[in-house]
Amino acid sequence: MKFRGRLLEHEPLARSTTYRIGGPARYFVLPAEVEDVVKALHFAEDQGLPWLVLGLGSNLLIKDGGFPGVVIRMGKGLDRFEMKGATAIVGAGMPTPILARRTAEAGFVGVERFLGIPGTVGGGIYMNAGCHGAEFAEVVTEVTVMDPKGKVKTLTRKQIPFKYRASNLGSVIVLEAKLGLGEENPAKLKELQGKLLRWRKAGTPFDQPCCGSVFKNPGGPKTAGMLIDEAGLKGFTIGGAQVSPLHANYFVNTGTAKASDVLKLIDHVRKTVQKRLGVELGLEVKVIGV
Ligand SMILES: Cc1cc2nc3c(=O)[nH]c(=O)nc-3n(C[C@H](O)[C@H](O)[C@H](O)COP(=O)(O)OP(=O)(O)OC[C@H]3O[C@@H](n4cnc5c(N)ncnc54)[C@H](O)[C@@H]3O)c2cc1C
Repeated sequence: MKFRGRLLEHEPLARSTTYRIGGPARYFVLPAEVEDVVKALHFAEDQGLPWLVLGLGSNLLIKDGGFPGVVIRMGKGLDRFEMKGATAIVGAGMPTPILARRTAEAGFVGVERFLGIPGTVGGGIYMNAGCHGAEFAEVVTEVTVMDPKGKVKTLTRKQIPFKYRASNLGSVIVLEAKLGLGEENPAKLKELQGKLLRWRKAGTPFDQPCCGSVFKNPGGPKTAGMLIDEAGLKGFTIGGAQVSPLHANYFVNTGTAKASDVLKLIDHVRKTVQKRLGVELGLEVKVIGV
């Protein structure tokens, strides 16, 4: 199969996740255009293999055996950005921090608080990522998706059953989105972004490989991080995986972690919080592979 982008084989997925963990992908496609995404899906179908769409791998724990199928990595070439009035038209491959910065600099408010979410816009919409009281669902007005057969359709906001950290879009690839923004003074937005970044640097292990929050907040008065801290688990370590001493809902790779270490740590933390505090924690990170 000929791609305008690249097709790699046995590509270590640890290179493509912020955890720096994950075995190889049998095939790894870097599409240069939408047509390549269609080809990748057809290629997977012809080979009888499963496919997986990847953004910046910042919410993924890929198992040590890797992914025995076709990974489609959304990035350059699929990262269009255009403002039409106060509507941003954004390709799935655009990094969310760049979107946050560019729109703020142009004087638009709505995604400025997503500056510290180190994924793509496609991954952000798929996960309904958010922070500091905002989430993608609030700004999305339209999403263009591709189904597993390669057919493209556009969904309106109302057709997408967004929930906390979930779009429930199912088995589709997000290609592009329209985001409805408002107008705001760029200097004010810059100041806010500076504050938020300082907050992140002080309160999260931003310079260590991780996937952000491991568990979803359970919805009560306490966040998952508070509960894990209360259960006495800050700093708890299994192999190369550690509950960050800085933020208990971030589990970091101290350098040599395998996916199996992180999975054991997840299991231990979940059971301990359940036993000591009676709260069931649900996973935010997506665990994928074999
Ligand atoms: C240091 C750090 C801080 C973080 N802070 C936050 C935070 O404040 N708030 C927050 O919500 N998250 C946070 N995260 C988690 C993560 O950045 C977000 O979930 C992000 O939106 C994931 O985007 P991604 O491109 O990396 O997706 P990936 O991790 O590559 O994929 C995540 C999921 O989305 C799917 N997916 C990716 N792209 C597409 C696409 N184009 N179409 C369809 N499905 C797709 C994948 O198949 C997978 O199921 C943080 C992570 C890190 C490492």
